[in-house]
Amino acid sequence: GSRATAMPRDIRINTLVATLGEILADLKREGWEPEPSPPGTPPYMIRLPPTTPPLHAHPFVTSGRCILQSLSSSLTAHALQPQPGWLVVDACAAPGNKTTQLAALVAPPGSSAGAGAGGRVVAVERDPKRAVTLRRMVAKAHASAVVSVNEGDFLGTDVSEAPWSEARAVLVDPSCSGSGLVGREEWSNNEQADAGVGEERLRRLADFQFKAVTHAMTFPSAVRLAYSTCSIHAIENEQVVARCLTYSGEHGLGWQLQRAIPEWRRRGVQSEGLEDEQADCCVRADPEGDRTTGFFVAVFVRTALLSSAVA
Ligand code: SAM
Repeated sequence: GSRATAMPRDIRINTLVATLGEILADLKREGWEPEPSPPGTPPYMIRLPPTTPPLHAHPFVTSGRCILQSLSSSLTAHALQPQPGWLVVDACAAPGNKTTQLAALVAPPGSSAGAGAGGRVVAVERDPKRAVTLRRMVAKAHASAVVSVNEGDFLGTDVSEAPWSEARAVLVDPSCSGSGLVGREEWSNNEQADAGVGEERLRRLADFQFKAVTHAMTFPSAVRLAYSTCSIHAIENEQVVARCLTYSGEHGLGWQLQRAIPEWRRRGVQSEGLEDEQADCCVRADPEGDRTTGFFVAVFVRTALLSSAVA
């Protein structure tokens, strides 16, 4: 539709193998001028005008120096802010856009001897076919030395055992209704959902999302947790956050909301169980206002580790 065609072409610079300066110079040589991005955009994201030809076969992309990833999708790992050297778990990882973004953040080039030494990403994916895609993407992004792919159910991971017991941050981007995706088939599913047909499905999805986030909350060494969906429905977004905060409180897990990406203007919507201040901690992206797919991000943090919270 017309909304989809007006979307900029967003690219992520794969800072494992390229720099912003190099890519900007290459783009200029092609005669392509980046567009301005909304405040809060990660510094390694570039927006090219909607009129730019498709880039999937361009050497920028085939070489793995740039990755086609929407601005909204880049916000989760950016908001998580994993530090160089951290072990991070990507709970629902395929096709791996966020996995490879995390790899670039925890193991920046030149970090093998410095502060970022040892940075690693463990990516979990339950669907075998999608795990193949994930492995392919990790290889293409030159991230194989940093990422290990774990084929299985994230909900079944034993948090008392390595590597799970050692993870400092967890990114949870679970299956959702996809109602924020515009210009795709999912859009018609969304209209069904809005008509009430999808109520039951939304509830099931929200229950899985709640289980995934609360399982991540039990990781004993984790101090940061990011949750995201490409849904526009509060039941999958703000309401999942509200339920997870209640769960954390009831189980003494010590998690609190942090104001994600403070410069980003569009914030979470008011919803049952969430204070205004808490809704304001969450980030939303919107097709009309931000010219990207509909998206939601929340970041949870804690200062005390689980072992000390329980003791
Ligand atoms: N984070 C990905 C990215 O940015 O490229 C997109 C993730 S997609 C929204 C959700 C993924 O979670 C799907 O590939 C799905 O197969 C996987 N998944 C669903 N349930 C899972 C579970 N219990 N454990 C692990 N992966 C799961």
